[in-house]
Amino acid sequence: MKSSRRKFIKQAAVIIPAASILQSCQPKMTEKIIKPIVVSTWDSGLEVNKVAWQILRTNGKAIDAVEKGANSIEDTINCCVGLGGNPDRDGFVTLDACIMDEKQNCGSVAFLQDIKNPISVARKIMEKTPHVMLVGDGAKKFAIDNGFKEESDVLSDDAKAEYAKWLEKSEYKPQINIEKRQNSETKVPGKLSNGDFNHDTMGIVAIDSNGDLSGACTTSGMGFKMHGRVGDSPIIGGGLFIDNEIGGATSSGQGEEVIRICGTHLVVELMRMGKTPMDACKTAVERIINVNPEKAKTFQVGFLAINKNGIVGGYSVQPGFTYSVTSDDSGGQVFEADSHFK
Ligand code: ASP
Repeated sequence: MKSSRRKFIKQAAVIIPAASILQSCQPKMTEKIIKPIVVSTWDSGLEVNKVAWQILRTNGKAIDAVEKGANSIEDTINCCVGLGGNPDRDGFVTLDACIMDEKQNCGSVAFLQDIKNPISVARKIMEKTPHVMLVGDGAKKFAIDNGFKEESDVLSDDAKAEYAKWLEKSEYKPQINIEKRQNSETKVPGKLSNGDFNHDTMGIVAIDSNGDLSGACTTSGMGFKMHGRVGDSPIIGGGLFIDNEIGGATSSGQGEEVIRICGTHLVVELMRMGKTPMDACKTAVERIINVNPEKAKTFQVGFLAINKNGIVGGYSVQPGFTYSVTSDDSGGQVFEADSHFK
């Protein structure tokens, strides 16, 4: 254990160049340890990182940075995170989220309705209850009792239109769409080229200037899912895992496949054994593919990881999984992860 930890500490950290353009594959490595730093899933993470960065750059805590970052996208209308997301097949938007700090305190909320900021409810559960996870009506009651407002008429105009379109066939196809690859000129952050946009989990991991890690993961989950379905995003070790000695990981994509292998816990444990973040993500993706190589051709899963030194890496089943990295005032940068299928 000791020697693998030494090996891990020797690994180099990333340098984030100034421009926020889409880069292929991986950030560059240097000997320098990077902190503070924040990473998040998808191109849309760039805006989330900006909010988190304002806290990190003034020596704020990672747990506050990831919560406020998550809130910023939960508050956005017509986005697949928060109440603006697509509903389930019965027309209800149901939210999943979890949060974890450097002491392995964690809180989680699943199948939550009519509350705008599930990540903050998860944090309250972490801080005010002896439990980790509350779901459904119990979670909603807890939220309202703790001052969260109950929202009404939550379906966004985009979601209403998407739902009406889905109802025409009502075909139950519980599958996360695969991004169509776009070149960097035509790429619109947060939007897919094929208009078939049924997912976008925001997973965020930050290291603050003290060197402490925290993470948050928030989503409305798979569009048009079965009522009551919960994905990987609120599951500690599924959509998010933090170990302050080693690093953190988060995921997006077909939640069932991530849960099956305890995905982010696996990624962190692989980093503990000495793998780089990218290799750890790649091994986790291969584990998923080995479960059912044929089925793996039909879905997307992406893992994003950062180790204690600030080295960042991602890997996905299909091309198109992007992630955002911010470690200075330049506005951050988007990278496209390497993938198993090309
Ligand atoms: N992982 C999420 C879920 O399965 C979906 C996503 O990433 O958008 O609910």
